[in-house]
Amino acid sequence: TIAVTGATGQLGGLVLEALTERGQRVDDLVAVVRDPARAAKLAERGIEVRTADYGDPDALLKAFQGVGRLLFVSGSEPGRRLEQHRNVVDAAVAAGVGHLVYTSAPHADTSDLVLAPDHRATEELIKESGLPATILRNNWYTENYAAQLDEARNTGAITAAAGEGRVASAARADYAAAAAVVLTGDDHEGQVYELAGDTAWTYAELGAAVGEVIGREVVYRPVAPAELTRKLITAGLDEPTAGFVAALDANIAAGALADTGDRTLSRLLGRPTTPLLEGLRPLA
Ligand code: NDP
Repeated sequence: TIAVTGATGQLGGLVLEALTERGQRVDDLVAVVRDPARAAKLAERGIEVRTADYGDPDALLKAFQGVGRLLFVSGSEPGRRLEQHRNVVDAAVAAGVGHLVYTSAPHADTSDLVLAPDHRATEELIKESGLPATILRNNWYTENYAAQLDEARNTGAITAAAGEGRVASAARADYAAAAAVVLTGDDHEGQVYELAGDTAWTYAELGAAVGEVIGREVVYRPVAPAELTRKLITAGLDEPTAGFVAALDANIAAGALADTGDRTLSRLLGRPTTPLLEGLRPLA
């Protein structure tokens, strides 16, 4: 049995679809969710839905019973993630999960990315647990740029503090398909995969691609992190979130997302990753 956490989330949902597309039987799939009311579609498809919040060790232990392979989708609650992730890893050990697959961040062990510390610590927990595991160090989703399409429509510009930094993004569905390959395949235990798009683009190239998608000329307007923070606060973001976004841009400027990972993602998929332009089109 293959279980997927975060199954009502975007990546988890796509992984379940990719698993069935690969011929995995629905009665061999478990969707782990924190809010079963939002899992009706999964249940309708015949997928067993089990309820567990990452904050609830007992529920996690129950949810992981009989699970051979587990995709652990990293959580999305800043500040509480590490404690939650510890619960998930401990429950996986206690339930006797055979193979844990975790969604991490690019070069989590050495990266300056502001979101790397949680991932680095989680990878360490997994290592210490002794569980057979595979780490999927996912680069950015192209879908992260949905808001930039709106900005570009309104202003003809994309404002960011990413300097000349490059981003090797891929479509969320690419990462999901790779997770399904790992969950259904052999020879992935013990591997740490740097998963990224085949091409690392600059924000000038992002501007051009966004312009093509929305049908107007779009330029990249590079700003300093402090200016971006001010702009985001004016636009209604709270200060910590604005600072976080600007810090991520500074990470990008320094090259934290530039590695294409030797095209490991496209090798796992057996096809090229979704190009930037194609990844942006569905967002328009
Ligand atoms: P989503 O926000 O769509 O999904 C996150 C999932 O995690 C949701 O299903 C959510 O549950 C679940 N979750 C969060 N906290 C808990 C908790 N305490 N207990 C149980 N489940 C929990 O993000 P994506 O699917 O797009 O991305 C997956 C993960 O990848 C993110 O959670 C984040 O760690 C990371 N990420 C990566 C990005 C990238 O570009 N590579 C960008 C953004 C995030 P619920 O459905 O109930 O909300």
